[in-house]
Amino acid sequence: MSSSIISFANESPHIIKGSQAFIQKFKIIPDPIVQVASLHPDPNAQIAWVILGCVLNQYLGLLELKKLLFALNHEFPGDRLWYTPVPKSIEIRTTITKAIGAAWPNLDYAPGIFWSVGDFVRKNFPLTEWILKPQNELIHSLIQIYYMGKKAPHPKVLACFQRFQAKAPLGLGVHRVFLSKKDDLALPMGARRFMGFMGPTSTIPFSKWSTEKKIKETNALFRYLSPDSPEMSAHALSFFLEKGHKKFFCQELQGSCKACPLYRDCPYAEV
Ligand code: SF4
Repeated sequence: MSSSIISFANESPHIIKGSQAFIQKFKIIPDPIVQVASLHPDPNAQIAWVILGCVLNQYLGLLELKKLLFALNHEFPGDRLWYTPVPKSIEIRTTITKAIGAAWPNLDYAPGIFWSVGDFVRKNFPLTEWILKPQNELIHSLIQIYYMGKKAPHPKVLACFQRFQAKAPLGLGVHRVFLSKKDDLALPMGARRFMGFMGPTSTIPFSKWSTEKKIKETNALFRYLSPDSPEMSAHALSFFLEKGHKKFFCQELQGSCKACPLYRDCPYAEV
């Protein structure tokens, strides 16, 4: 266990207690990627839509991601993700623009991502058998997908593995171990915000830490807060100060900051 997380826990037990209560409240909120993937009864489609969601999940708030995925799924449901002929670029772009507007920086790449995931599915079908292959083969095939990212530690691949493995509402609950408790999880934006605003204080702010240190320390916190299920910490903290419809999602869900276990320490608490 990281010594800085242990010192933080000793110095700020109220934040640890509040965070654990926050996790209990938010652990039941469905993950938008899993929510959309689970609309399909076919496990191949579920796996394919998790992969698509994880690749598209960049520069998007959780609500925007949800709107985008629901819109794509409505327009091109289930196996339309990989059946040919593939949707035209303009159809994919228009669907996304109608859902979230045209300001998303990855809009131009979205058709390529959609086609690339479809191509991946056609090459590796059935995904219910592909998913049983050795880990290194899974990683090798996943990083061929456009915009998945080729550089280790492959955060989007980790995000796929987390969602394959975790039980609903966090994941698909595929029966195999993709990540052990010792493996680091990808860091959702909410967890990064938590570390920056409420996590261990240091002479160097969280935003200036090295990528390795951010991953190591934040994962140490996930494990400290929820030793049996660090992925639950990651999932619940993804909602911390996340943009909601009009206010922060955490405010909207709880009705008021005064009902929040982090009320005392959160710098954005509304009095
Ligand atoms: S903004 Fe309010 S609801 Fe959200 S974490 Fe802070 S105190 Fe809790």
